[in-house]
Amino acid sequence: MVTPQYWKLRERLGPGGRRRVRAGVDAVVAPVLGSVRATGATTRAAITFDDGPDPEVTPLLLEALAEAHVTCTFFVLVAQARRHPELLGAVSAAGHEIALHGDDHGRLTELGYRGAHRYLVAARDELQSLARAPVHYYRPPYGAQSVASYLAARRAGLEVVVWSADADDWTDRSVEQVVRDGLNGLEGGGILLLHERLEPDPRNGAPTTSFDRIDMARRVIAGARDRGWEPGTVGELVRTGGPRRTAWFRP
Ligand SMILES: [Zn+2]
Repeated sequence: MVTPQYWKLRERLGPGGRRRVRAGVDAVVAPVLGSVRATGATTRAAITFDDGPDPEVTPLLLEALAEAHVTCTFFVLVAQARRHPELLGAVSAAGHEIALHGDDHGRLTELGYRGAHRYLVAARDELQSLARAPVHYYRPPYGAQSVASYLAARRAGLEVVVWSADADDWTDRSVEQVVRDGLNGLEGGGILLLHERLEPDPRNGAPTTSFDRIDMARRVIAGARDRGWEPGTVGELVRTGGPRRTAWFRP
C-alpha cells in the first residue's frame, strides 16, 4: 500500500497539498479504515505516554500527575509491564487509562493479518490481566500500520489511536523546545504523543535524551491549561467529543 513513490509524491505536494489530499482521502477511507487521530472535544486535550512503564520515570511521573490532578493515557509495552507489574498496577490505581502499545515494540506491518491478530489478542489479554483493567485502545509502534494490521487490531476489538501533535521527544533538545513543539501542534480535542521511556529502534539504534521527562510533563500540563485545554485521557475525550478518524498507513 505504501511505496517509495508514495513518499516522493508526498514530499512534492508540500504541507498545503498534503492537507487537501488527506481531507479528500479521509472523506472516503476514514469511515471504514480510520484510526483515531483527534477528537471533537474543544476544551480538553489528551496527553499520552508511550513505551513504559519505566522504574525510574514512572513513579515520579505519577507523582507529578497527581499533584496536577491530571489523568492521562499510558500506551504501555507488555514486555515492560511484565518486568514491572507493580508499576503498571500503580499507573492503573492512580486512575490513568491503560492502553496497548504492543508486546515488544515490533512493527505489525511485518506480520500479516493473521500474525498481527494473534499478536494483538495475546498482548491485549496479558495486559488486561496484568492491569486488572479493560484495554480498548492500541497505538502501533512508530505509527507503522498496514491495512492488514489495522483490520487485525479492529478484529481484536481494539480501537487504533495515533496522534495529532508530536513533541519529537526522542530527539535530544532542551525541555523548552520539546514542550513548545508539542504544544504548537496541539489544539482542543487533540492527542499529544509523549514518551515516558524510549524503546530502542532496531533500524535506527537507541535514542538518548538528557532532558527531564517529569519537567516536560509538568510544563506540557501548564501550557495546555494556559491555552484553555484541560488535559485528560483519550477515553474521556472520545466520550466527550467523539473520535476524529484519519486514514493512517505507514511502513
Ligand atoms: Zn513506542
